[in-house]
Amino acid sequence: MKSRTRREFGCLTGAMVLAGLGPRLAAGEAKAKVVVVGGGIGGATAAKYLAASARTIEVTLVEPKPRYTTCFFSNLYLAGLCSLESLTHGYETLAQRYGINVIHDSVTAVDPVGKTVGLKNGPKLPYDRVVVAPGIAFNYEALAGYDEAATQIIPHAWNAGPQTQLLRRQLENMEDGGVFVLVAPPNPFRCPPAPYERASLVAYYFKQHKPHSRILILDAKDSFNAQDLFLDAWERHYRGMIEWLPAQFTGGIKAIDVKERSVKTASETFKAAVANIIPPQMAGQFAQQNGLVDQSGWCPIDPITFESKLQPGIHVVGDASSAGDMPKSAFVANSQAKACAFAITAALTTSERQPPHLFNTCYTFLSPDDAVSNAVSFKPAAGTIKIIDNFVSQVQESVETRHRTAREAQSWYAAFTRDTFG
Ligand SMILES: Cc1cc2nc3c(=O)[nH]c(=O)nc-3n(C[C@H](O)[C@H](O)[C@H](O)COP(=O)(O)OP(=O)(O)OC[C@H]3O[C@@H](n4cnc5c(N)ncnc54)[C@H](O)[C@@H]3O)c2cc1C
Repeated sequence: MKSRTRREFGCLTGAMVLAGLGPRLAAGEAKAKVVVVGGGIGGATAAKYLAASARTIEVTLVEPKPRYTTCFFSNLYLAGLCSLESLTHGYETLAQRYGINVIHDSVTAVDPVGKTVGLKNGPKLPYDRVVVAPGIAFNYEALAGYDEAATQIIPHAWNAGPQTQLLRRQLENMEDGGVFVLVAPPNPFRCPPAPYERASLVAYYFKQHKPHSRILILDAKDSFNAQDLFLDAWERHYRGMIEWLPAQFTGGIKAIDVKERSVKTASETFKAAVANIIPPQMAGQFAQQNGLVDQSGWCPIDPITFESKLQPGIHVVGDASSAGDMPKSAFVANSQAKACAFAITAALTTSERQPPHLFNTCYTFLSPDDAVSNAVSFKPAAGTIKIIDNFVSQVQESVETRHRTAREAQSWYAAFTRDTFG
């Protein structure tokens, strides 16, 4: 087999997507069927790249919500820097340009013997392969006093949409001088820098509108992602406004009192004017209920094809997967979905098998004009996925560099959501 450079691979992929040059169907031959569960970042990307890479595959995407709001940039919405509408995307282009059957429903179960998926409100769908991308579920049992009903009073805002709006309203209604208490979850969880980005951007909002208010982060951990970058930024932009208390200081989070709006730790109880509880996390409920999850709470996968190690013929991408060194981010979900789509295309058609190219790029805002980034490449190794190269912003960077990174982040959002939703 002729080997290709990464650049050639990228060009080939783009050309296939634009021109629909994938394998064609011989007359009378039935199309292979792939059902994608979940139209978030992982599912939408997988559906698009499957449909674009082979005309011989019929792709059905099942997602309950008619429109999807991105978690990424939702902290900017909390700070009043963008609207939620600007973060919301439809599925029309995936249906119209790529010919994907988009069904707005919930998948209830997969039958791996009969090879069908069941829908809540529709007939069973037959499949040759399934891609599962249900995102995360919250492990409420691990946090005493907090459950799904409580999220209507104290939001987690860890899925974007009504929860983010609720938190924003509470911040707007809070009196100046109040304390915003944010409970940060244990590892692993969706988007490692995001709780600390949220603290930074809420501090920015307070500085503009409620300058006597404070932010208290009660962490389930003793350290966090890009800690030096955040501590430096908090000192420069928000001196005295943000206090971070690690688990070793508080003895850990013990319970939430929703009525009192307080958080009990081993050492002290902290009362909030506004609270934001980000609970411990695990793979989305659908993965839990369909035998895709191991004792870690996440879905073990083959590091090349993203096929489940527990259920053959079913692939898992995005936050629900347990993918070695890869963090749970939108960029990772998109990268995994592409690798998975090409692996499925190779399995169901005559097209060549390609080695996966796995990346993450993450932009984090410390203030509207001060952003940092990291970029990581990965490769399958020893049955899992390992980091091979890593770039991280540095504490000493100039103001101009940080401005440029913030501008890059805005361009990234536009390009990335177009790559995902068409
Ligand atoms: C505050 C915050 C900031 C973030 N910032 C960034 C960032 O800057 N960069 C970055 O890369 N990532 C960021 N992330 C992480 C990113 O949002 C997630 O990693 C990404 O959304 C994961 O994609 P996914 O497809 O796995 O899950 P999701 O995007 O959550 O999609 C899952 C979809 O599955 C659907 N679904 C679930 N069950 C079913 C079912 N039974 N049937 C049908 N559909 C179902 C859901 O409705 C949902 O639409 C951030 C996250 C948060 C919370």
